[in-house]
Amino acid sequence: MEIKIYPDPILLENCNDVVNIDEDLVSTAKEMIDTMKSVEGIGLAAPQVGILQRFFVCIDFSDENREESLVLINPQITKKEGRIESKEGCLSIPGFYEYVYRYENIEIKALDLDGKEVVYNPQGLQSVVFQHEYDHLDGILFPDRMSQIKKDIFMKKIKRELK
Ligand SMILES: [Zn+2]
Repeated sequence: MEIKIYPDPILLENCNDVVNIDEDLVSTAKEMIDTMKSVEGIGLAAPQVGILQRFFVCIDFSDENREESLVLINPQITKKEGRIESKEGCLSIPGFYEYVYRYENIEIKALDLDGKEVVYNPQGLQSVVFQHEYDHLDGILFPDRMSQIKKDIFMKKIKRELK
């Protein structure tokens, strides 16, 4: 799969709910996991591979070998509290890393590949990755989580290098 790079306009689109969790979706999700791992990413959202549907894949950080992955379909953040700073990058904005603000604790509900509802109360990096990937489904990229001044400087820098 080809990862869409900023300023590809598809990255700024809103995604639609997944209607059917079928074989196609299962194989697409597996392909996304392989793509994510092949570039040593920790998360990948559907719009990053050109699919405007509300799901993402990411590493399962509860597995200490970081070999397991999670698929969250039609996720909803049902609780958010606290604030932390996290240094982030994005496979769609390669080579750039910056601190952004995230919620410290969230609760997120989603469907898995069996169509079963799963509730997560992620901590630390897992929470940050969920929030980062969730944002992609609303066309929000991590610089959007910076202060305006910081974002302006950052966007100038990435626009100069990613054309
Ligand atoms: Zn990203």
